[in-house]
Amino acid sequence: MKIRVNSCSFGAQFSSRATTPRPRISQFPYTKFPNKLNLTSENYGPREAARNHAASHRPNHRPPDRRHDNLDISMPARMSEAFVLQTWPFKEGDLIVSFLTRDSGKLRGVARRARRPKSGFGSGLERLSHIRMSYFQRENRELVNIDSCELVHSQFGLSSDFHSACALDFVAEVSEQLLPAAEPNEKYFRLVTAILDHLRSGATGAVWAAITYFSLWTVKLAGLLPELHVCLGCGTWLEDPEHAQRAFYNRNQAGLYCHDCRRTLDLRGTWELSPESRAIAEEILHTPIAQLTSRPWTQNTAADLRRFLAQQMETQIERKLITFPVLEAAA
Ligand SMILES: [Zn+2]
Repeated sequence: MKIRVNSCSFGAQFSSRATTPRPRISQFPYTKFPNKLNLTSENYGPREAARNHAASHRPNHRPPDRRHDNLDISMPARMSEAFVLQTWPFKEGDLIVSFLTRDSGKLRGVARRARRPKSGFGSGLERLSHIRMSYFQRENRELVNIDSCELVHSQFGLSSDFHSACALDFVAEVSEQLLPAAEPNEKYFRLVTAILDHLRSGATGAVWAAITYFSLWTVKLAGLLPELHVCLGCGTWLEDPEHAQRAFYNRNQAGLYCHDCRRTLDLRGTWELSPESRAIAEEILHTPIAQLTSRPWTQNTAADLRRFLAQQMETQIERKLITFPVLEAAA
């Protein structure tokens, strides 16, 4: 692993001779990092966080010719398998990167000089690139310092297909909005891996199978999936073979209602969740995506289920998903 040394770093023992033209031990403890900024708040946007991050890393005596040194010895170096979720330009040539790691959940970091031609990050920071990322994390800091990344899988091949590109946008937005920061969630990481594999398989209708599978499991893993076979109003079993029920949902309710309850409760703005879609949901919950019953997936397949799941997510994040209507309108 490449280790670079920051001019504001503690400890002389890690600084290589080539990058230390001046004595270091005499400076210890020379750099103070003010901790008056509440960087742990979820209310911070990435730009504010990065600005504070940059300010907190700017030592008073930083020499101008040491900009390429980037390691703070007080930070443990980490290497994580990750998916890039979103990036924001920052300062002249930097990027703020939101990424999902297998071992530490969703993190944000600063990739210095990532927008410059010879950055070394290459296409590793594209949306949903599967990478091995090397970064440094300091306690009580919201943003990590991204040192380098190595590409495992690029999603570049999917970008030329409009539906697949919309699907990537949807997965990135849902992950960015729904996942809590820095909470390990390996099941979610494996879910994203599986559905990206399925998208790349190029099977007919793979986009719709992948997005339906992803949405259902995302809602399930977030603990937001209601019972799909029982009426929330009266407790009737909707799948009763002798008295099969239609099922309805609306934006303000967490579960499904039978036809009678829909009328009794005077539910407005409801959609129907078809028995076929409920059966697909049941199968998805018990079957890996590659082993789903072969069916001709089209945009209409389980579209009602996807709308239902998107509404559950939107209720949770308290805003509309931007990419969902784009994906579903892309006929
Ligand atoms: Zn009912």
